[in-house]
Amino acid sequence: MLHRPSFRSSIRFKLTLWFALTLAILMLSSEIFWDRHLATILEGNTDSRLARTGDILADLGHKGAYDEPGVEEAQCEEIKNFLRRHNWGVAIQQRNPHGEPTCVSEDIGDLRFPLNRRALRQLSQGGTYFETFSSETGERYRVMTMPLYDDDRLVDVLQVGENLEATDTALALLLWKRIIYTPLLILLLSGCGWFLAGRALLPLQRITDDIRKITAENLNLRLPVSHKKNELTELSITFNETLERLANSFSRIKQFTGDASHELRTPLAILKGETEVSLRWAKGEEELRQTLASNLEEIERMEKITEGLLHLAKSESGEFHLNLSVFSLNDLLQDLYIHSKTLSDPKKIETILQMQVDHEVFIRADQMHLHRALLNFITNAIKYTPEGGQVIIALALNDEQEARIHVSDTGMGIPAEHLPHIFERFYRVDEARNRNIGGTGLGLSIVKAIITAHHGRIRVLSTPGQGSEFIVYLPLDPALDTATPAAVSA
Ligand code: ADP
Repeated sequence: MLHRPSFRSSIRFKLTLWFALTLAILMLSSEIFWDRHLATILEGNTDSRLARTGDILADLGHKGAYDEPGVEEAQCEEIKNFLRRHNWGVAIQQRNPHGEPTCVSEDIGDLRFPLNRRALRQLSQGGTYFETFSSETGERYRVMTMPLYDDDRLVDVLQVGENLEATDTALALLLWKRIIYTPLLILLLSGCGWFLAGRALLPLQRITDDIRKITAENLNLRLPVSHKKNELTELSITFNETLERLANSFSRIKQFTGDASHELRTPLAILKGETEVSLRWAKGEEELRQTLASNLEEIERMEKITEGLLHLAKSESGEFHLNLSVFSLNDLLQDLYIHSKTLSDPKKIETILQMQVDHEVFIRADQMHLHRALLNFITNAIKYTPEGGQVIIALALNDEQEARIHVSDTGMGIPAEHLPHIFERFYRVDEARNRNIGGTGLGLSIVKAIITAHHGRIRVLSTPGQGSEFIVYLPLDPALDTATPAAVSA
């Protein structure tokens, strides 16, 4: 079943949406910033123009004593004439120290520039004051207010104003153009974004199509990996690696179930056959008892197999938990030695324990599992050694960093071509012979899982007809003082 994403939930749509939103925010904020910046520059230009005009007009106004009658009117006339001649587009307004207008340009009619407190404070400090002022008719003026002095005496206040209509119109025009063009631009760029997102996601679509072709039946299929290194190549490589692991565990499971059913089939067939025969032909109680005894053997064998398989399944699925504790290897081997004697005595096999260490060796490990693994070597050694043979159990140290446990026998040995396989599940060197001895072929694979879980390793030396030696190397915990039991409790 195809699970195509809906248009609105698609990455392509979301990418484009985010792109458009980010673009809109960036463009809007940059436009607001540049608009304000432009307005500040234009205002600065107007202010310096007003200041220059004010200086010129102030000079014109200082050509006589203010107290003399008629001087003020004459000066007003001169200023107006000057402005008429130069046509700078500025209007003036002159006020006496009481704030009353004494000279006003004709072009502003009844309009009066304001003279507020802040302006007065600025004037009292000898400074010039700039402000933007809106008339009742909606006209905007930039007004400069400056003091006029006669020998350090404030005689007049000069206000020069410039109509901001031209600047406002230019700024408004710019704003309108932006209001129209910006969305269009965002739309156009979002279209480009949609196209690019589509192109960028195309390889992903191809990968999805390829993945769809892979099923449990063809786990050997792999995604094509382009020689160009990019994120998608990495994805394909990672996916292929995962697929590899999946295929491996899949085939392991197949092998496992195949092996298990194959191994259980033989004892089941024997059980069935023997039961059928005795049901049909058994003459007396004794014969039936023999059949039941034989059946019990097969059942025990199946029990061993299922137990072993369960153990291996746990270790392969990572559920194999070690219950670590600190204990003495010397004690463990001593215990195993006693155990092995009860097994070897009936076969008249001599068991020897050799402690090739001059002190006790402590280890941090799972005692129960380690006991099980080492016992497996010992039972194998006894199993595959004929009567009158010898089994040696030894403990030694490798540079104080590794413990070495040897289990050697004088048994039948293992031919060299079988050695690499004896740790495989259900592997038996000689099927017919082993069946009589009673092995399941699972023992050594379980042992290997246990020793590997302890970060140890196993070495096998064997000469057919002479005997075998299994050596287990176990790392020692450097934090433990292996020589002193006192340190164990630490
Ligand atoms: P089994 O239950 O058959 O003993 P193992 O996994 O323990 O299974 O051993 C695998 C095979 O390795 C055995 O079937 C046997 O042929 C061989 N083997 C193991 N230990 C010895 C030994 N000490 N001497 C000879 N052969 C051995």
